[in-house]
Amino acid sequence: MTAPVTVPVLLPLALPAPYDYLVPEGGRVEPGEFVVVPLGPVKYLAAVWRRAQGEEPPQIARKKLREIAEIRDDVPKLPPVSLDFADWVANYTLASPGMVLRMMMSAGSAFQPPAPRYGVRLVGPPPERMTPARARVMEAAGNGLIWVKSSLAESAGVSPGVIDGLVDAGTLIAEPLPDWHAVPLDTSRARATLSTEQAEAAQELLKHTGGGFAVTLLDGVTGSGKTEVYFEAIAQCLERGQQALVLMPEIALTSQFIARCEERFGAKPAEWHSGMTPSMRGRVWRAVAENKAKLVVGARSALFLPFRDLGLIVVDEEHDQAYKQEDRVAYQARDMAVVRGHLGHCPVVLSSATPSIESLVNAEQSRYRHIRIGTRYKAAGLPALQAIDMRKSPPERGRWLSPLLIEAVGETLERGEQALLFLNRRGYAPVTLCRKCGFRFECPNCSAWLVEHRFRHRLECHHCGKFLALPHECPSCGAEESLVACGPGIERIAEEVAECFPEARRVLLSSDLTPSISDLRETLREIEDREVDVIIGTQLVAKGHHFPGLALVGVVDGDLGLAQGDPRAAERTFQLLSQVTGRAGREAIKGRGLIQTYMPEHPVIAALVAGDRDAFYAQEIEARREAGMPPFGRLAAILVTAGSREAAEGYARDVARAAPQAEKIQVLGPAEAPLSVIRGRYRYRLLIKATRAADLQAYLRLWLANVPKARGDIRLSVDIDPYSFL
Ligand code: ADP
Ligand code: ZN
Repeated sequence: MTAPVTVPVLLPLALPAPYDYLVPEGGRVEPGEFVVVPLGPVKYLAAVWRRAQGEEPPQIARKKLREIAEIRDDVPKLPPVSLDFADWVANYTLASPGMVLRMMMSAGSAFQPPAPRYGVRLVGPPPERMTPARARVMEAAGNGLIWVKSSLAESAGVSPGVIDGLVDAGTLIAEPLPDWHAVPLDTSRARATLSTEQAEAAQELLKHTGGGFAVTLLDGVTGSGKTEVYFEAIAQCLERGQQALVLMPEIALTSQFIARCEERFGAKPAEWHSGMTPSMRGRVWRAVAENKAKLVVGARSALFLPFRDLGLIVVDEEHDQAYKQEDRVAYQARDMAVVRGHLGHCPVVLSSATPSIESLVNAEQSRYRHIRIGTRYKAAGLPALQAIDMRKSPPERGRWLSPLLIEAVGETLERGEQALLFLNRRGYAPVTLCRKCGFRFECPNCSAWLVEHRFRHRLECHHCGKFLALPHECPSCGAEESLVACGPGIERIAEEVAECFPEARRVLLSSDLTPSISDLRETLREIEDREVDVIIGTQLVAKGHHFPGLALVGVVDGDLGLAQGDPRAAERTFQLLSQVTGRAGREAIKGRGLIQTYMPEHPVIAALVAGDRDAFYAQEIEARREAGMPPFGRLAAILVTAGSREAAEGYARDVARAAPQAEKIQVLGPAEAPLSVIRGRYRYRLLIKATRAADLQAYLRLWLANVPKARGDIRLSVDIDPYSFL
């Protein structure tokens, strides 16, 4: 009797490894293929995996093996590189491979049979009753191509009803749309004429993106035209017939990118982010797997799409913290992009005006190529930055803007230019207290103050979402009208702006006020088109946007980020403030940045004002080197949470006791996390600090294998290369 044919199948669950399943009689499956398999009483969609080299099939009694229930050969397979990548990411992050597979499978409707969608095409004679609207539709549809109804209506500037009318009249007919109409990207269109500096950068870049793995740090000041430069690399990749991926930290940024793509390549790229409908996600996932989608722009999770022939990865704003995913599989998408490039022999471009220390050190040590662009494309120059010493020119009582900043805003508005006030704090005030008894509103589930959101008339927790209506009396002493808001959030700054400049058109930009992507895109367009005079925003406005009319950026609290006690506080503040002030004066207007601070002598503020980026980086790199902090040493964090303090603390101590001794590795803690309770769960942290030479993953695996099993509601999670220490 021949041995049964079995294959390892990876389930999208937190299991230690793939399980073996019997291949149905006469069936054939290949690694990467999707199958449906039973596990206990439940059936799962899973992927056929493969054995490590030289690994024998496990000896399992035939009657213990279960058979694959269904082979989903109607779904494109995962390409071999996706399997390598999933294994690599799991191995590095200590997540189970099944959870990485699950990210690769978060594909919307890709696993359902594609539902036919209908479009319309111009076939018949003009309708008997002709109207200007109908004529516009006929003109727009005149190319004889099949159109999605809504986009035809949009491009003809008519309501969808007009289209329906023309279908009834027999002028248009409804036809099923092709699964993915790959509008070819045209690389031969007239491109922007690059400046000499840009052309040199592009020429240098193309040397490293011609094929094969290489990482290039494209390091150019804000407004220097990095996008134009890496477009050249995208064009080169598309001309080779390969797929290109552009990662962006913030999906709101993609709209400008999409518009620029259309200009450059005559068609839109495919988008990938959480704001898409499941059916759209499904279509994009399939189109990527089938090599029909040639250019994808997306959030960090786009890295896990099943690209069949990826020829370029661009990580835009590579320094951005949004590339770090904290929950479930904790990964840093910038670093994983480099890994994906390496596994798939694909060049990687990291682009930023304020690179991460990690990337800069890699460039200095020649692991990455380094291309710098030192001047802006259009502008007179980089904005002039100045610190406003809040000790010397303080705001009026109960106000937050220094007279110097108010004056500068006034001058800007008089010239008909735009001003942006930046404060990285949502809501009206971070703390509300009772003047009579000192009571402060705290979240019942978290160790955090409730933040007043005046527009929505409520107090909110920014950690768990708990909210309550703003009360009239103090819940503790019952005093009326005794509640006072302490400290500013952007809503309060907006109020101050309204008092100082009642005529100015204002817009508030923060994630809670513009919840949908389309709203946000609309607001960004209004700003671009100068329908707004003063923008008051959180970090949502700091990133990559290009606002041609913006002349002044005022940072309301330059010290805010510096107060956070983590190893990247200085780096992050420098990047954020450079980025946000870099929004000013991007075109002909001379830009200006004012930073309100109580410590103008702080090295970060001093470096910003002096415009001495290189000195800042050199100093910061040296400090990291001395402290053995990343990238000169390695960090991992272990977070223990539980429903009670005793359970969390007790288990964290057990975990610490089980830590093996190792020369190059230091275990710190457990300590109560700075955010000691979130959603009613108590939190304890351990920090593991290792030299670069240490095998941190092997150490953690050995350690965690010896940790007593977590009982009850205790949870342990591991974060390799942590960015959050709260
Ligand atoms: P960065 O990403 O470096 O901040 P962008 O690529 O967004 O800069 O370019 C800034 C602005 O300058 C954009 O509006 C862009 O269209 C314009 N620009 C840059 N280079 C050129 C060029 N060679 N020709 C025309 N416009 C350009
Ligand atoms: Zn809370």
